[in-house]
Amino acid sequence: MFNSFYPAGRYNLNFDVCAMFLAGILFIFYITRPRVFQEKRTRCFLLLLFVLFVSSLCEFCASVMFNSGSYSGSSALDAVLTISHTAQVLLPYLLAVYLLEVLGFSRRITRRRVLLLALPELFLLVQIMATEVQSAARGAEPHVTQTGVILCIIFFSAVIWFYIGICLVVLVRSRRALLRREYISILIVLVAFWCAMVPQLFDPYLKATEFLVSLCMLGIFITLENDADLYDGATGLRTRTAIWRESQEIFDQEISSFVVSIKLGNTGYLSMMLGIPAMKELDREVGIFLQQYADDAVHVYRLSDQSYAMVLFQGDRDRAKKIAEEILSRFQAQWCLFGTNVLVPAQVWISRIPDQIPDEKHLNVFLDTRYDPAVPANALHQFDMLKSEARRSEVELALQRALDAGTLTVYYQPIYDTKEGRIHSCEALLRMHDEKLGNVSPEEFIKVAEQTGLIAKIGESVFEKVCAFLEREHPEQYGLDFVEVNLSTIQCMDPTLPMRFQRIMQSHGVKPQQINLEITESAVIHDEKTMQALLSTLQKIGFSFALDDFGTGNANYTYVMKYPFRLIKIDKSFLWGAEKDDAARAILENMLELVRGLGREAVVEGVETKTQRDMLCREQVRYLQGYYYSKPIPEPDFLNYVKNFSQRGSSQETDGSSRES
Ligand code: C2E
Ligand code: CA
Ligand code: CA
Repeated sequence: MFNSFYPAGRYNLNFDVCAMFLAGILFIFYITRPRVFQEKRTRCFLLLLFVLFVSSLCEFCASVMFNSGSYSGSSALDAVLTISHTAQVLLPYLLAVYLLEVLGFSRRITRRRVLLLALPELFLLVQIMATEVQSAARGAEPHVTQTGVILCIIFFSAVIWFYIGICLVVLVRSRRALLRREYISILIVLVAFWCAMVPQLFDPYLKATEFLVSLCMLGIFITLENDADLYDGATGLRTRTAIWRESQEIFDQEISSFVVSIKLGNTGYLSMMLGIPAMKELDREVGIFLQQYADDAVHVYRLSDQSYAMVLFQGDRDRAKKIAEEILSRFQAQWCLFGTNVLVPAQVWISRIPDQIPDEKHLNVFLDTRYDPAVPANALHQFDMLKSEARRSEVELALQRALDAGTLTVYYQPIYDTKEGRIHSCEALLRMHDEKLGNVSPEEFIKVAEQTGLIAKIGESVFEKVCAFLEREHPEQYGLDFVEVNLSTIQCMDPTLPMRFQRIMQSHGVKPQQINLEITESAVIHDEKTMQALLSTLQKIGFSFALDDFGTGNANYTYVMKYPFRLIKIDKSFLWGAEKDDAARAILENMLELVRGLGREAVVEGVETKTQRDMLCREQVRYLQGYYYSKPIPEPDFLNYVKNFSQRGSSQETDGSSRES
C-alpha cells in the first residue's frame, strides 16, 4: 500500500527529509538549554538526537544514490551505509541508557552490568560490519536480497526487544517515583519505538523508521525533557519538586547518600535594606556558586530564596564534608550585590540517608528546618534525625515532669535605659533543670513544647509566675516600668489567650501596663489575620508589645510596622556582626535609623562588652540588654540587682562593676 506514494523500486526520501529536519531542530533547541552537558541524562538525549540526525542523513544520501542508480561498487555508498546502519543500531541502546537514566536506574547498577547491557549492542554492531563487508564485496544492494541482512533484521528486532523489555521492567518497578504523565509517556515511547521498525519490514523502500523515531524523540522532548517544574528558571538549580521526586527514588532503592542543607540568615532584613533586585542577585550568585558542584552524582537544589540543598548520591563522608566546608568558607566572605558588599550568615547542615534520615517525611523535616538564630552561623552542623527524635522525646518527658512537679523557674534579665541611666524593665526567661538531662536550654525545650502542645500550659505558667512576682515584690518601687514576657507563635494563635491572661492578672491584682508582651518576627508573619485580631484584643485590655528577634525572619518591615509595637528588639547577631565588619555595622546603623524613622524605640540585645555598649551609646540607642549588665538571674538576685542599681544610680553602670557572671 505504501508503494502508491513513490515509484516502484525506488526509495522514498520524504520521511528521511522530515526525520532530518525534526531531529536537527530538536538538537538545536536542546543544545541552547543550560546544563545540557552537566548530566548524563541530558548528554544522552543530545547524543540520541545527533545519532538520529546522522542516521537519517545517511539514509537519505544512500537512498538518493540507489534511486539514481549510481551505487554499484561505490565506496562512498559503502561508507554511507556503514555509518547509517551503525547509527541505527546505536539508537535502541542509547534510548535504553537514556530511559534508565530518567528512571534513576543507572545509579543502582554496577559498571560491569552497564557493560553487560552493551553486549547485545556490540554483537549486533559486529554482525552489521560483517554483513556490510560481505555486501560491499559482492557489490549488491544489501537491504532487499541478502539473507545476511534478513538475519540482521531478526537480530536487530531481538536486540530492540531486549532493550525495550529491560526498560519496561524498570519502568514498572519505578512507577512510584514517576508522575502519571511521565509513566504513560515512557510507555508510549517504548511501544512507538518498537512500532517504528514495523513499516520497513513490510516495505524496505519506505524508510520511515527514522521519522517515527524522531516523533518519539519529540514526544520525549515535550513530556520528559519539559523540565520547567524541575529546574529553577533564575538559578538553573533543581527545584523542590525535583528533590521530592528524587527522594522517593533514594528511599525506594535505598541509595545511601549525604544531604547538605544550606540556610541563609537575615534575609528578611537584607531584603528590606537592599531591595528585592539585590536579593535576586544574591540568589543568582549563590546559585552560580553552588552549581559548580553539580554533576551526575551531586544534585543541587534551590528550596527557597534562603534555603538550598545538595544530595550526594552514594557520596562519601569526606567529599560531603569538604563541599560543606567550602560552602561555609565562601559565606565567610562578602557577596557583592550591585556594588554593595554584604555578609550573609549561613548555617550548613550535613546528614546521611538512611541512617540519620530514615524516610522522606524526615528528609522534609530536615530540609524545612529554618535558619535558626540560636544556632551558630557560619558553622557546620551534623543532623541526626533519629538521635534528635530520641532527644526530643527525652526533653518532652523531662518537660512533663517539670510541669507536674512545678519546677520550671523564671529568671529575669535587666534592660537598661541609656537616656535615664536606670534599669527600665526586664525580660522573663524560663529555665528548666532536669535531674537526668541537667540544664536544658529554652531554645530547645520551647521548641519541643510547641511541637507537643505543652506550650499553652507552659506559657500560662510563666505568665502566672511573673504576675505573682509583680504582686509580691512590687518591682515598680525600684523604677521598673514593666516585665517583658515572651509569647510563642502557638500561643498567639489561641483566641482564648486574652481572657485567660486577664483572669490570672485579676487574681494577682496586676495591671496589664505592668507587662509588655514580646512577639517574635516569625510569629507576626505566620498568620496575619489571627495576629491582628489577637493584638487588637490584647491592646484593648491595656497590654503593650515588643517585636522580638527583629531582622532574623523574612518579614516585610512596612507590614510588620502596621502592628502596635512599642519596642523593636534587634537580635544580638546584628550587634555581634557590626563589631566585626563595616558592612554589618552599616546594616545595624540602618536598622536603628529605620526604627527611629518609624517612631519606635529600639532595644539591642546581646550587649556583652564595654566596647559594644559605647558604640550603641554613640548611636543613641535607648535600651540595652545583655551580659554586660547582667545575665538572666533568679528572682531574688534580680531584686537585689535592681535595688542596688536604683540606690547607687547610673554611676555603677558606666564602669560595668555591677555585672554578674
Ligand atoms: P529571646 O527571647 O531572644 O531571649 C533572649 C536570649 O538572649 C536569652 O536566651 C538571653 O539569655 C540571651 N541573651 C541576652 N543577652 C545576652 C548576651 O549578652 N549574650 C548572650 N550570649 N546571650 C544573651 P535564653 O534565656 O537562652 O532564651 C532563649 C530563647 O528561648 C528566648 O530568646 C526565647 O525565644 C525563648 N524563651 C525563653 N523563655 C521563654 C518563655 O517563657 N516563653 C517563650 N515562648 N519563649 C521563651
Ligand atoms: Ca524575647
Ligand atoms: Ca530576642
